[in-house]
Amino acid sequence: MTKKFYEKTRKERLDFLLEQALITVEEYQLLKENAPLSDEFADHLIENQVSQIHLPLGLAFNFVIDGEQRLVPMATEEPSVIAASSYGAKLIQNSGGFQTKSSERVMIGQIVFRAIKNASQLIAQLAKEKTTLFSVAAKSYPSIVKRGGGVQEVYFKQVENEAGEAFVTIEVLVDVKDAMGANIVNSILEGMASYLNQKFPEEILMKILSNYADHSLVQARCKVKARDLARGSNFDGKVVAQKIVEATNYANLDIYRATTHNKGIMNGIDAVALATGNDVRAIEAGCHAYASRGGKYASLTKWTMDEAGDLIGELTLPLPVATVGGATSILPQVTFAQTISRSKEAISLAKVMVCVGLAQNLAALRALVSEGIQKGHMSLHAKTLAAAVGATEVEVPILVKQMNQAKQMNQALAETLLAELRKSKNS
Ligand code: NDP
Repeated sequence: MTKKFYEKTRKERLDFLLEQALITVEEYQLLKENAPLSDEFADHLIENQVSQIHLPLGLAFNFVIDGEQRLVPMATEEPSVIAASSYGAKLIQNSGGFQTKSSERVMIGQIVFRAIKNASQLIAQLAKEKTTLFSVAAKSYPSIVKRGGGVQEVYFKQVENEAGEAFVTIEVLVDVKDAMGANIVNSILEGMASYLNQKFPEEILMKILSNYADHSLVQARCKVKARDLARGSNFDGKVVAQKIVEATNYANLDIYRATTHNKGIMNGIDAVALATGNDVRAIEAGCHAYASRGGKYASLTKWTMDEAGDLIGELTLPLPVATVGGATSILPQVTFAQTISRSKEAISLAKVMVCVGLAQNLAALRALVSEGIQKGHMSLHAKTLAAAVGATEVEVPILVKQMNQAKQMNQALAETLLAELRKSKNS
């Protein structure tokens, strides 16, 4: 019997794709050779694995977090993210660095009952089961209890749709220690749900972790001296500070700006998440939902000015990050990333991430309200363009210089300049 695609080994999958003319011989070689993770590891992570994608891993500097110097590992394909992060952190370092704090580190799971006739009666009955639910949960995942975690609290709520149909939801708050906790929470919910199924006739619609991790909040605060905002330019630092405040206030008025404002914050956070083997989708979902907590999508950062005209920044985010479990235990560079950033505990890593978000936002806003974002971004983009058109190590700096002098920079220009360069060399 022929194997299904997912049952094949990686080599068999590639052979199949080639036989079916779905890939060329060149693509076959490319996919075959560019796979540093062993097939065993990669097949353990995902389904239908045929090859692996590489991302550059870099380091951001100048992060002084609660008085401690930290190096920040970042994996990203976007030019300027690491440079901006280091630059923002440097401005903040000059005024004493970041101060952080965190709430409890608890994830929330939901068990949803559907088509409820008398919601308050069901909630009253469920409330009587609270103690039993705690012990069922502990039996469902005993190792997290041994680690000092497990279910911390159980809440009940009623939710109604537009047709007046009622749901009753149990919200289960679980201390997942240094894990991200999705599997831990889901296993606990499974155990609780099977107990509830025996005890209650009402139907359970679903049971699943919530990615709205508002019980895993981490906050970073910083100060930036106005004069540092103007250093190396002709701008007035206090005016730049004022405009940073105004730009943030503007984001709160306009979703088109707020989305980009927050995307810039996530540029850095996602890069740290990738470098440390964390679930970027979970972090993204939680942070953007948190940006809407006031009923309107708004800026995640707050920037104000103190009496001296210096800038005060604050960023609070739900960051359900892990230093154990999930991909963190499988991806080889993760241990390096954790060690170099001194992030053995999840909360410590979350603090690094929130500081990166604040630094990234500061650098972006400073550029936006002064010389504009393109100046710094495009000179780094020039490097990517030069590499993309096939410039060699020697040719890249020559092309970058020429492109930076041009009015407009694009791939066509890079191709033309490279062709001219090679022609002049040959003649
Ligand atoms: P794991 O299932 O890997 O569980 C954590 C593991 O870490 C456990 O095996 C635990 O051991 C071990 N561990 C070691 N030290 C500690 C410690 N100090 N604290 C806590 N655990 C420790 O991962 P998670 O439950 O964290 O789930 C994360 C994964 O789930 C991610 O890959 C995520 O992408 C995925 N996921 C995400 C969903 C979502 O976001 N909606 C949904 C489903 C999955 P022991 O068993 O001995 O306690």
